Amino acid sequence: MNKSFTLTLTALILAACNSATPAPTTAPVAKPAQPTLAPTVAPTSAPTVAPKPTDVPKPTEAPKPTATPKTKMVVATTVEPLTNIVYNIGGNRIELIGIVPPGTDSHTFEPAPSDAVRLARADVVFVNGLFLEEPTVKLAKANLKKGAEIVQFGENTIKQQDWVFDFSFPKDDGKPNPHLWMNPLYALRYAEIAKDTLSRRDVDNADFYAQNYAAFKTRIEALDVAIKKTIDSIPAANRRLLTYHDSFAYFAPRYDMKVIGAIQPSSFSEPTAKEVAQLIQQIKAEKVPAIFGSEVFPSKILEQIKKESGAQIIETLSDDALPGEENAPNHTYIGMMVDDAITMAKVLGGKPELISTFDVTNVVTK
Ligand SMILES: [Zn+2]
Repeated sequence: MNKSFTLTLTALILAACNSATPAPTTAPVAKPAQPTLAPTVAPTSAPTVAPKPTDVPKPTEAPKPTATPKTKMVVATTVEPLTNIVYNIGGNRIELIGIVPPGTDSHTFEPAPSDAVRLARADVVFVNGLFLEEPTVKLAKANLKKGAEIVQFGENTIKQQDWVFDFSFPKDDGKPNPHLWMNPLYALRYAEIAKDTLSRRDVDNADFYAQNYAAFKTRIEALDVAIKKTIDSIPAANRRLLTYHDSFAYFAPRYDMKVIGAIQPSSFSEPTAKEVAQLIQQIKAEKVPAIFGSEVFPSKILEQIKKESGAQIIETLSDDALPGEENAPNHTYIGMMVDDAITMAKVLGGKPELISTFDVTNVVTK
């Protein structure tokens, strides 16, 4: 040990001497051979020993006067459609954080510890509520910074007497179907809540938020009319929805459609063999024209039901995931609703062209 320490030290000294010696401008003539140890050790040892120019302490700089840049309000949301609705009001004047990653099952989503850090930065946390994002709400509450608030859209949109319970959201559990945003007029109310909240907390930009809300309102009202026309073009007997995921409880009554069933049980697991057998019976008896699946909830069960019931078509409907790539013009809440109406019209014998050219872009441009 001592020996190696001595050798190393020697090497370091040699290395230090070498690096300190200015390079000769002419090649030295027949210099005696250097000890063989030095060159092999020097390259690795030298840099740590030689003081670097950057180590020289800098003269202390006078602190620059900060131009007090107005910091943006930090706003956290949960699922993509809600994030997009809030974006249409706040644009780039807020810093918007979506907690539930795209394509994730929002009903079973468990936030990661890193989400606690993100939620702790938020001034406002917008959630759907109605028990959709309980773990996220719990985490937000535990980490909320002083003066921040959690705003629940659902609870501020409909009264308890208007809650819908059904197969996947049974009354016994006390947790209603939370998919209010699938009714565009409820989505508009979400936007209004966002506008009111942002304006109250950021008065300087209140006009901007109000202007965006007005534009969103005009577009949503037009969307509502376009969906109505499209669904009306479906023969009455076909205006029935059997979906895998039970997300049209507030959409269907708005457009005179009937949800005849959902396949996914309240546990969000796969249905049992018995339940599947019953469903197949029901599909045959009611002559269900189509079963609608979902990208977020792919299910092998659907294939089985399709095979055994003869219900010929499975198409994709979405309530959580926005269409297109991020930044694509149709990657919006409105784009998702238009896609769903097109899918229903195509599969159930309606006229998709009544809505296929609808403007699906964001109303906010900055
Ligand atoms: Zn859902």
